[in-house]
This record gives sequence, C-alpha cells and structure tokens, in this order.
Amino acid sequence: TGEPLYLGIDFGTSGARYALVDKQGAIHSEGKRTYPPVGKVTNWASSWREALFHLLGDIPATYRPSISSISIDGTSATTLIIDRNNGEILAGPYLYNESLADALPAVESIAPANHTVCSDSSTLCKLVSWWNSSSAGLSSRDSAILMHQSDWLLWLLHGEYGVSDYNNTLKVGYDPEIDSYPRWLMSQPYAHMLPSVRAPGAPIGSIKEDVRAQFGFSKNCVVCTGTTDSIAAFLAARTTEPGKAVTSLGSTLAIKLVSNARVDDARFGVYSHRLDDMWLVGGASNTGGAVLRQLFTDDQLVALSHEIDPSVPSPLDYYPLPKRGERFPVSDPNMMPRLQPRPESDTAYLHGILESIARIEAKGYNLLKELGASGVEEVLTAGGGARNDKWTAIRGRVLGVPVRKAEQTEAAYGAALLALKGANTSTD
Ligand code: ADP
Repeated sequence: TGEPLYLGIDFGTSGARYALVDKQGAIHSEGKRTYPPVGKVTNWASSWREALFHLLGDIPATYRPSISSISIDGTSATTLIIDRNNGEILAGPYLYNESLADALPAVESIAPANHTVCSDSSTLCKLVSWWNSSSAGLSSRDSAILMHQSDWLLWLLHGEYGVSDYNNTLKVGYDPEIDSYPRWLMSQPYAHMLPSVRAPGAPIGSIKEDVRAQFGFSKNCVVCTGTTDSIAAFLAARTTEPGKAVTSLGSTLAIKLVSNARVDDARFGVYSHRLDDMWLVGGASNTGGAVLRQLFTDDQLVALSHEIDPSVPSPLDYYPLPKRGERFPVSDPNMMPRLQPRPESDTAYLHGILESIARIEAKGYNLLKELGASGVEEVLTAGGGARNDKWTAIRGRVLGVPVRKAEQTEAAYGAALLALKGANTSTD
C-alpha cells in the first residue's frame, strides 16, 4: 500500500461528496453522488446510506487499503431516533429545517431564554416532540437513543452506539464551554437518550469487519467523530487562528470568525461553535448574491465587474435584500430592501451594490467585535462571490484587512482534515 490517506465525506443539502487527502492536504481523489429519490418505501435514511456506500465504491480500489481514517459531516439538527437494541430507526430522520413547533413551548420552559435550542427546528425540539408523542411507546423509550445525521452514517461504519461531537450536539443543548450537558437538560426524563460527546475528529473505533472486507479497507482504518456541514466548510479553508475569518458570499452573506472569546446573541442570530481551544463565531445576513441574481445574469456580472475601478469608493448607499427583513448585523424583521437611486450606468449601479454589501460585511465583523469577539485580521472568501476579483478588492478596501479567495471550500475537504486529525490523535 502507498502513503496514508484520509477520507472525508460531506452530506449536504443536495448531495454527498467525498475527498481523499494525504498528510499534506493534497487531494488524491474526489467524487459526488446525488441522493437516490425518496419514495414510499425508501426514506431519507436509506437514501443517505445508499449514497454513502456508493461513494465508498466510487473510491478507486487501489486507494482503499491506504485509507487510515474516515470522518463525515452532516447538516446540523438533522436527527434520528434509534433503538440501541437492534439499530432500528424508531423515528425520523427529521431534516435540518423541519419544524417541530409542538415541542417549542416545552423546550422554552426548560431552557434559558434565547438559548440555541429555542428554535422550532432545533434538535432538542425534535427529541422532545418524539418523546411527547403518543407513538413513542414506553418500552421503546428505554432503549431509544438520539443520533445526528453524521453520527448515524459514522455508526454504519463503526457500529458503536451513542457517540457524537460538540458541534452537532450544540443544537440539542450541549455546552462546549463546560464540556457537558447543562443541568436543566440532564434532569429531563429523556436525558439517557443523549449521546456522549467528543471533539470533532476524535477516533471512535475501527471500521466494521463486514464494511472493511466489502470495500478492501485496511484493518487499521479508524472511524472518527464528525461535525456539521457548515463547520466542515469552514475547516476546509484551513484558517484557525484568532482574527482569521471566512466570508461566504453565496445567495446570502455569512461570516465566521475565529475568536478567543465565545459570543452569543440571539437578537442577531449570533452564536459560537467550539473549535478546539478557540471559538468560531458566526452571523448571517440576508444580503448577498440572491439580490445580484434578481438584477443581473452571471455573465452580466462578469462583464460589468470588469469595468469597475475598485480603488474608488462608490458614493451609492444601498441595503440590498431579496425581500423584507434582516437579522444581522441589523436586527429588523421589517427592514425594506434599499436599491435606489439607480444611476444610468449599470456599472455604477453594480459598483454601488457590491460596495454596499461590503459595508454590511464590515458592519458584521464590527458587531462581532462589539459583542466581545476577536477583531478581524484576515478574510478568506467562499461561495459564488469569491470568483469576483473586483469585489474582493472593494471588500479589502472597505474592511481594511487582507481579503482573498479560500483555496478549498468543500465541506468534504474539511471532513477529510478531521479524519487526518483523528489519525494523528490515535497514533500519538
Ligand atoms: P448558494 O448559496 O446558492 O450555494 P453559490 O455559492 O453557488 O450560492 O453562489 C451563487 C451566488 O454567487 C449567486 O447568487 C450569484 O449572484 C453570485 N455570483 C455568481 N457570479 C458572480 C460574480 N461574478 N460576481 C459576484 N457574484 C456572483
């Protein structure tokens, strides 16, 4: 067998991808599968399982014996209830954005005000909704356990019950600061269903013998804890020092900043994930590429951007939103989009919009700092907007810090880095 390789698999909203990297982080193989259709017989879980095993089969057979470790990320708050006696699915999967509003009053009555779990799609609402439902029989309650999407997919590979990570468990109420579930949660009758929590990328155990034999993996291949898809996408950028940040310019604008201090503020939808001994503070605005797409085609964006001089500030002051309502860095559910006055020149118009979005981005980083996070020192960019060099230059001027495109932005690549971390942990 050749040099050791590390496998990361991402289960995103539209499909699953894998990335296979070496110690240096160089990619040796990549692949993608869309999810098989979900029908009457097949549910999401079997669709994911199928995608997982298809992907394992897509990895060139010559690489498989060299794979030292595997990690998987999944969409956050995607939840299954499993019977630990036989692995049967008792309920779910509840998808990441599925609303279990019936459980919200019960959750709000036990959790501190404005806690992350106080959202109708939180993992805790899914758990409580199941627990309180009449279909949850008494006997199944004793052996039932909670798994997140990535816990379950990893479990298919290692077979141990009840292991998760501190990124996935944040939305069920785990407190990464004290490294345990809080007392208000542990005192609930369903507390025995909560998984034990490890750092993302911690080795769990060897790959199951049947899976190993089927695909020709090595006996030494270890399966490691995973994370959420957005954390994995952040990890892909390989920037983990305080002050380093990743702005994602997709349909919306999302910022993530490595910080020494933890910052949470429900008013702005700001919360922190743990990142080893640091915090990853995030906020998301409704501005972003969706507005650009309402006004211009992608080809027009390229052509018009070409004409912009990014060293000259645009005097136009807009607040580009695709529709009413903003959360971060201004919390105002009634805020209206402001895209007037429109100058005669489309180039000037686009310049004004790009500049205005850059000002919102700067305001976002300033707000995180006001809330107590580390000041931003460098920004890497992910998403469709990262392609636009003129915008990058405008943002550099407005933010006053270096801005560049992130080399890697695929969550699967971030998951592969977690696998690499796990392999190093186990041989220490
Ligand atoms: P999503 O959030 O939908 O995954 P992507 O990361 O694929 O988004 O980015 C798509 C967005 O990128 C679109 O909303 C589009 O407006 C924007 N975009 C595409 N090309 C450019 C460009 N040259 N300059 C600025 N924005 C662009």
